Amino acid sequence: MASSAACAGFFFFDAEPLGKPSVATLHACALCAKRLERGSDIFMYRGDTPFCSEDCRHAQMQLDAVRARRAAAGRRQHVLVGNGRF
Ligand SMILES: [Zn+2]
Repeated sequence: MASSAACAGFFFFDAEPLGKPSVATLHACALCAKRLERGSDIFMYRGDTPFCSEDCRHAQMQLDAVRARRAAAGRRQHVLVGNGRF
């Protein structure tokens, strides 16, 4: 049960657009979509991505790090496969 919930969460993260958030999303946490009320603490990341808490921002940083590492690894793998085959 817990694992399926985690999967749903990751699907949600993957569904998030990588581009700039729209004006509307600036009023909600970019990670958990919690509404950011005026006057409440907002944790900004990358200049224009708001989060409701340090935890959410940190989680997004880790997701970005994983994504960047995966992208770099994928590029490297491509090169290795290319060198091995040709
Ligand atoms: Zn949040």
